Amino acid sequence: MQFVMATLESLLKPHPRVRVLRDGPPDPEGECVVHWMQRAQRGHENAALNLAIALGNALRKPILSVFGLTPSYPQAQRRHYRFLLEGLVDARQALAARGVPLVVRLGSPSEVVCAVAREVRAAIVVGDENPLRIGEQWRREVAERLSVPLRLVDADVVVPTSLFPKQEYAARTIRPKIHRVLNEFLRPLPDPAAQVQWPSERLPAGEDLDIAGLLDRLGVGGASEVAGYIGGWTEAQRRLKRFIADRLPQYASGRNQPVPYRTSELSAHLHFGHIGPTTIALAVRSSGAPPESVEAFLEELIVRRELAINFVARNRDYDRLAGCPAWGRATLSKHASDPRPVVYSEQQLEAAQTGDPIWNAAQKEMLLTGRMHNYLRMYWAKKILEWTPDPETAYGLAVRLNDTYFMDGRDPNGYVGVAWAIGGLHDRPWSERPIFGTIRYMSASGIRRKLDIEAYIRWVAEIERRGGREH
Ligand SMILES: Cc1cc2nc3c(=O)[nH]c(=O)nc-3n(C[C@H](O)[C@H](O)[C@H](O)COP(=O)(O)OP(=O)(O)OC[C@H]3O[C@@H](n4cnc5c(N)ncnc54)[C@H](O)[C@@H]3O)c2cc1C
Repeated sequence: MQFVMATLESLLKPHPRVRVLRDGPPDPEGECVVHWMQRAQRGHENAALNLAIALGNALRKPILSVFGLTPSYPQAQRRHYRFLLEGLVDARQALAARGVPLVVRLGSPSEVVCAVAREVRAAIVVGDENPLRIGEQWRREVAERLSVPLRLVDADVVVPTSLFPKQEYAARTIRPKIHRVLNEFLRPLPDPAAQVQWPSERLPAGEDLDIAGLLDRLGVGGASEVAGYIGGWTEAQRRLKRFIADRLPQYASGRNQPVPYRTSELSAHLHFGHIGPTTIALAVRSSGAPPESVEAFLEELIVRRELAINFVARNRDYDRLAGCPAWGRATLSKHASDPRPVVYSEQQLEAAQTGDPIWNAAQKEMLLTGRMHNYLRMYWAKKILEWTPDPETAYGLAVRLNDTYFMDGRDPNGYVGVAWAIGGLHDRPWSERPIFGTIRYMSASGIRRKLDIEAYIRWVAEIERRGGREH
């Protein structure tokens, strides 16, 4: 989707990356194009913004970007809101450089975008995609309330989700389908500018992005802020450069070691759309790093991540045990009343007060830093199944803790991570054992063999001593 100098007709042609939620030509009486920013919160390399700009340029009308900031996003905490606001500061600056003002208002995103679209007499609204339940609900509400067309661009995947209309069984089923079309979709995204400037005297009312003031006005509490975990395009670029220079060369062999991290640590920026997967994939592909590391990384970034998005888009029970495969639910149900040698309360688990120093360190890493290494996330979720009275309780608790504390929580990857660890999603049956049935088991002794776990426990203790700071 290059559309730098496209005609209106070519811009409105069907495309696998574009979903038409409200059809029709742009309103001839309309005075501008509205870009609704929700999931892809960035002013660079953003296919949804690009379509809005291209439409504005073809119609010879200015473009306005709108963001509705809701104080009641499910499970979102103060730490997430700060990160989001930092991203909006970067986005506003990048958008301004492209001739597109960003209006941020407090309220439900669907209400905000409809109100602004009416005020500025939009000819057409262009948004991004979000497969989560709440994201889809907002989009349906906007389509119902708007009186002008609404188009959604799947801007946060490399290969459009629409190409996989059914729930994929496993990585091995989606991988060949992705690779078949990858070169068609993995293309650099330009940053075209609006040709008609927005008339500054007609800028609708909106918020200044004073982060501290907005956090207070939003009144969000919950999980405290995390030192040094900064949101936004600029920080995502810094992390990407660091990853390519220092970590990518050893990614294939070293990514499972948690001390020090050898992964990109870009998941939260991807979650908030502060950077898109295309930007990362192209930078990694042209980095000159060893091919086995490039391949291993692109497998996670594209195949695994887009498999997770496929699951959430195609399975409405994506965050419940009911969404897991039938064999997983059956085996868990058969073993639901197996005696649990140890049961911890929700409070004990949340406060990292179990008898397992590995699990406690992982839980503390999550509480203090908002992240946890992938290998430990697997162990962490499986132990919750072992230590709670039944699989339903385990599932609900794992999802809640994941979404409350991880900076990258409330993401398709998290729902799939829990479904894989507890419900056997995208996995196969293993040998049968108590509590787990045929769900894959992970033991503390296995972790000790694979990782330098004592170094990990010491590292988390040091972070705790520094009050959450890593250095
Ligand atoms: C129980 C459990 C819970 C999880 N919860 C989350 C979550 O809430 N949010 C989240 O983004 N990820 C989650 N994951 C997946 C994975 O652990 C994280 O994406 C990864 O640790 C992020 O670190 P990174 O950015 O350094 O990854 P890198 O290794 O640098 O990978 C690059 C990107 O690829 C994607 N990716 C990596 N591993 C996976 C994977 N296994 N599945 C799907 N995509 C992947 C991520 O977007 C990641 O940022 C969970 C996994 C498990 C087992």
